Amino acid sequence: MSNTLSDINSLLQAIYPRREAGAVASLLLQKIVGASASDVLLGNFELSKVQLQNIEMALERLKLNEPIQYVLGQTEFCGLPFKTDKRALIPRPETEELVSWVLSLKSNAEVRVVLDICTGSGCIAVTLAKNLPDAKVFALDISLDALSLAQENAVLNAVQIEFLHCNILKTDDLGEKFDIIVSNPPYVLLSEKQFMRPNVLDYEPEIALFVSEENPLIFYEHIAHFAQKHLNKNGCLFFEINQQFGNQIVELLQKYQFKNIELKKDISGNDRMCLINS
Ligand code: GLN
Repeated sequence: MSNTLSDINSLLQAIYPRREAGAVASLLLQKIVGASASDVLLGNFELSKVQLQNIEMALERLKLNEPIQYVLGQTEFCGLPFKTDKRALIPRPETEELVSWVLSLKSNAEVRVVLDICTGSGCIAVTLAKNLPDAKVFALDISLDALSLAQENAVLNAVQIEFLHCNILKTDDLGEKFDIIVSNPPYVLLSEKQFMRPNVLDYEPEIALFVSEENPLIFYEHIAHFAQKHLNKNGCLFFEINQQFGNQIVELLQKYQFKNIELKKDISGNDRMCLINS
């Protein structure tokens, strides 16, 4: 195999749309060669035999539809580095929008305690801990695998987070009150599986994605109930949501005594986030 960016790019075009192939080829070379994007583009690098073998192995994995973030073992979220592997869902751009929304409304001075429910890779909890350095941050998940990855991401970003292993659907009390509760729970319907790509379906943990058709809002209902008892005065609950359920989630939340409920669209114009003030 030749070692140029354009050769890798052409190979990847069998798997990826043209523009994505270029970006993936560059990321792959940056990681394996340890070079900057511009050095990769200018061809300012030489490949050792081992690096060449690593590229070949990575290409084999990509051909089997493994997501680039898992192959590289890392990604960026809100400008911070995160380890990524099969233990948890890959951080998504829509979740970056959710975290940016939280940070646009809440300052370090007013937030003392934060809880991230269904933390997965820890991307929300770690980013909030980094940006709200005086807050005590808790993060929970049902998956021990996810919690071990989230813990590594906390260390990688030099933040302190208290991780809790529990099933939020069976948790009524954590013995603590919060100024912010945030959650990106599983929200994809099993019936949506048919529209999803193999890179998601064959590699990412199902437990982090899917909910049953019969009770798709089960997490929202339970977390709203939990938040009603666990939010401090003027506390806020932030959700990432399935775009199909914006109005239904608002209706569901209206059953609880919250002051104000706000729905927000993501960059693609889909209902994606919800804010509830206690
Ligand atoms: N946004 C994710 C996706 O579409 C789903 C995240 C979730 O279920 N919480 O793959």
